[in-house]
Amino acid sequence: MSGFVYLVGAGPGDPKLITVRGAEVLGLADVVVYDRLASPALLELAPSAERVYAGKEPGRAAMRQEQIDSLLVDRATAGEVVVRLKGGDPYVFGRGGEEALACARAGVPFEVVPGVSSAIAAPAAAGIPVTHRGVAQSFTVVTVSTAHGDDVDLASAARSADTLVLLMAAGRLEETCRSLIEAGRPDDEPAAIVQWATTPDQRHVVGTLADLPALALAASIGPPATLVVGHVVAVAEELDRLRSAIPSAAR
Ligand code: SAH
Repeated sequence: MSGFVYLVGAGPGDPKLITVRGAEVLGLADVVVYDRLASPALLELAPSAERVYAGKEPGRAAMRQEQIDSLLVDRATAGEVVVRLKGGDPYVFGRGGEEALACARAGVPFEVVPGVSSAIAAPAAAGIPVTHRGVAQSFTVVTVSTAHGDDVDLASAARSADTLVLLMAAGRLEETCRSLIEAGRPDDEPAAIVQWATTPDQRHVVGTLADLPALALAASIGPPATLVVGHVVAVAEELDRLRSAIPSAAR
């Protein structure tokens, strides 16, 4: 019998935020190749599968990308059902496209199971809608660092949308905010950084482009964290204020 590869988005952190399809295919797995940011609790949905950790700590990789690609292809070619479990959505800065190409080139059948990306979930978990009528009609998702260390054109990203969502920003917050200001975003524009969104360790800090780096440093915000810039950050503050006045019974 020929094998199969599922490229599955694990969602942003809370294991309940995987899709129904993602949970279903985990139950079919002979082997799960998982990332650092995929919730470990999800491995319980594949109790008898072999587990292979392929996580990339910032600046340090357990496995090189080419090794991961070969592992997926080799295991599926040997007849196994492989679930490649990736944080968020597999195609949002997750190198899922490269893994899909490796499968396709090797003639291995595969399916992509989309996931809830932290690009949207991290702002939402901090109460920030990435679009809001009359405030923001567009959002751009951009990474601050790339796998190959290529320069990211933050200046063009800065001008491209009302709301900016920046991934992998925690380690370079100061220079990122400075670049955005230099590209024309006002220094008093609201900005927030959200760490470990949708997990019990979630924390966020709100400020402006000018003062957020110092506030985040003081709060020891580190990776994984998502930076959100735009007036939608202020909508969250209004929502919070109104919501705190609502008696909440149902949880
Ligand atoms: N494919 C993933 C993104 C991979 S890049 C997705 O769609 O979510 C990894 C970056 O995602 C991190 O550096 C951070 O910026 C962001 N990220 C992932 N999980 C996060 C979380 N729980 N909270 C905040 N940001 C997160």
